[in-house]
Amino acid sequence: MPVSITANDLQRLEAYEAAVRQMRTGQFGAVPVPGNIADPIDAFGSELAQLGNWLEARFDEFRKFQELSLEIGSELFAENVLERIYQTFHKLIPYDRIGCALLEDNGGKLRAFWAKADYRDLRISKNYSARMAGSSLEKILQTGQPRILNDLEAHLAQNPHSKATRIVVAEGINSSLTCPLIANGKPLGFLFFSSREKNTYRDLHHETFLQIAGQVSVIIEKSLLYQQLYDLNGQLVEAHKKLKDQAMHDGLTGILNRSAIMELLEAELSKARRKDHGVAVIMADIDHFKSVNDTHGHLGGDAVLREVAGRIKHTLRGYDHLGRYGGEEFLVFLSDANETVVLEVAERVRIAVGSVTVHHEGQIIRTSLSQGVALFNGSEVAEHLIARADSALYTAKKEGRNCVRFAGLT
Ligand code: GH3
Ligand code: MG
Ligand code: MG
Repeated sequence: MPVSITANDLQRLEAYEAAVRQMRTGQFGAVPVPGNIADPIDAFGSELAQLGNWLEARFDEFRKFQELSLEIGSELFAENVLERIYQTFHKLIPYDRIGCALLEDNGGKLRAFWAKADYRDLRISKNYSARMAGSSLEKILQTGQPRILNDLEAHLAQNPHSKATRIVVAEGINSSLTCPLIANGKPLGFLFFSSREKNTYRDLHHETFLQIAGQVSVIIEKSLLYQQLYDLNGQLVEAHKKLKDQAMHDGLTGILNRSAIMELLEAELSKARRKDHGVAVIMADIDHFKSVNDTHGHLGGDAVLREVAGRIKHTLRGYDHLGRYGGEEFLVFLSDANETVVLEVAERVRIAVGSVTVHHEGQIIRTSLSQGVALFNGSEVAEHLIARADSALYTAKKEGRNCVRFAGLT
């Protein structure tokens, strides 16, 4: 039977054709609402309108996710990425709580990593961990398919041994959408979206997650790698600092060693040359130290060295510098000091060390310090300044020890 097309049919077909053309430009809501679905042309129009709505919803979601992934992808640390997901994913999936758990021990264990809720009573702590073997989560990872549970109390009644379910039910959660995180084929863990309402999650949310799963997983994986790198770098910086610290300090007394104190002194002198301010050095040497070793042994001598270094350090001001220059010789330098100040400091040091009593193997060891003091002449090199302090120290030794002598300017 020949089919006759009326002018009205033609008009409606042209309108649908125009709507399809609009769809090709990304506008899906332009399908005219059909009048009579029993009519085959309008039935076609109705299908077309539904397709348009479906595409509109999907594209809308896609656009939203594009925006969100730009936002969350701009974060470097995993916790910040998850925080952003919590702030922004309301547009895609409903939730009152989001949790993230990560696989450990080659996938043998799952550990809670992060959780946030719009209520305070969060009960799964960061240290919560569970074995993966035999758990229902294992199947979710294998299939890569999210799981919807819309009545957690009923689920708990059927699986009374599920500790994690018991905990979230105690928090007041009734529905959950458990999403596997698989980045480039490698399982990472799970994102748990949960809601206090029963029957919150629908196939639509399952679909939504499937669409965004790959990208979310890759962003989370990237942030975890960044965190590892950051932590590793922190450890390296720390180790480097420790090594540098060790290289600068004397192992026995803990004060700066010779090269470190010399480096500081040289820096101080070059500053003093430019700014024309005073620097004073004290060269201090323990009196008759050889006999301490001879009488009390090397360990007794070491104990005295530690105690004397501690006393000198304690007597100085925070901004003075002290180092072990040689066996039982200490170098002190003071910035911005004049003769009166440095002689006062040296005298305080002398009295402090003179009162030291070291108890070693049941014996008491006493000691004293001779000191030579010199003021920077404004142009000399560090070795010259120290040589002058040394010669004043020699005078102090010659003139009876346990005293301070001041060097002339040559
Ligand atoms: P003076 O009053 O003239 O300075 O006499 P002294 O005995 O202190 O001087 P001398 O330079 O003859 O002896 C210094 C001694 O310090 C010799 C050396 O064995 C000892 N000594 C150097 N370093 C250490 C150390 O790390 N531990 C111990 N126990 N002794 C050390
Ligand atoms: Mg000595
Ligand atoms: Mg000496």
